[in-house]
Amino acid sequence: MNYRIDDRGYYGDFGGAYIPEMLYPNVEELRTKYLDIIALPEFKAEFDSLMKDYVGRPSPLFLAQRLSEKYGAQIYLKREDLNHTGAHKINNTIGQIILAEKLGKKRIIAETGAGQHGVATATVCALKGLECVVYMGEVDIERQAPNVARMKMMGAKVVPATSGSKTLKDATNEAMRDWINNPEDTHYIIGSVVGPHPYPEMVSKFQSIISEETKKQLIEHTGNDQPNYVLACVGGGSNAMGMFYHFLDDENVKLIAAEAAGLGVNSGHSAATSALGKEGVLHGSRTILMQTNDGQVVEPYSISAGLDYPGIGPQHAHLHKVKRVEYVSITDDEAMQASLLLAKMEGIIPAIESAHALAQLEKMTFKKDDVVVVCLSGRGDKDLDTFMKYFNL
Ligand SMILES: *Cc1c(COP(=O)(O)O)cnc(C)c1O
Repeated sequence: MNYRIDDRGYYGDFGGAYIPEMLYPNVEELRTKYLDIIALPEFKAEFDSLMKDYVGRPSPLFLAQRLSEKYGAQIYLKREDLNHTGAHKINNTIGQIILAEKLGKKRIIAETGAGQHGVATATVCALKGLECVVYMGEVDIERQAPNVARMKMMGAKVVPATSGSKTLKDATNEAMRDWINNPEDTHYIIGSVVGPHPYPEMVSKFQSIISEETKKQLIEHTGNDQPNYVLACVGGGSNAMGMFYHFLDDENVKLIAAEAAGLGVNSGHSAATSALGKEGVLHGSRTILMQTNDGQVVEPYSISAGLDYPGIGPQHAHLHKVKRVEYVSITDDEAMQASLLLAKMEGIIPAIESAHALAQLEKMTFKKDDVVVVCLSGRGDKDLDTFMKYFNL
């Protein structure tokens, strides 16, 4: 079975570039140039150096002893939470900022929902001294004040999107409009494995450092680079794609992706795309998304802002359809309990997103020697308010 992209930019039935005519030259420039640029020795040297000295990679692969005893397997955590800025998103923005420079771009735009991708983008723009404009829904700007402050402090301009529901999809529309109007000097940094080809492929390559390191670290820990299970949470799907990337062809490694079921898969308040979604076009690619019978995108819900997305990247849609990856649904409550459990048992407070992957452990049965890797995509500092309210701390 082929899980990779074909030369038309599709993963099986999914992917492609469904974009307005006016955006075509920008996307085409990226598509025709990015592979050559990221193969340059000087690109690789700079990427590796920033990953090491700025991001703090390699991120550790930590054997969680007490969790392992509880579940009766060897549970390893891939510690993306220890990266600079607290999550995996920086892996992608570092890759794209170097690429933008090599393309001769002077100005960076991005869209953000909860603000995490906006912060990761503002960070690398400050690092490189490039102009940064982040589009964000007006409602999200109010809800995510600390991230707005972070972006501003690092010199980014945060522009409110005031149309529609004033959230992520409206910010995305504004960013697209900006890119159409500034094709020469501007690069658009998309934050997950979504968007028109080549974005999903490009982002998954930058994030694939997660599984590349994990394989080496597993050899050191266990002598075998193939674990029994690999788990990750899925919003758009970038930490999961990075975590799965080098395991896709290891057919005996079971890959599990946890989606946000919110208040319950059938509650009308969830983001469980693979359980509820149908095929369609979202953000420029053919994928599966949550939509009404007449094709309106359904407003997603999750307690974790990072999983609150109505679709999944096209490669995930393919991996779901061909059943290479098992997609499971985790409710808010299950994720919150898993957060508390990790805090109490290992002294690590995870991002609520990452806790969706941890919560799946509770539902599995293991053999004693099973090796399990969970991607801890981010740290929980940003979620403290939510923890305080939920647990009455
Ligand atoms: C943004 C985010 C996610 C979800 O994004 P993916 O593209 O699905 O990885 C997951 N975890 C954390 C900590 C995040 O910040």
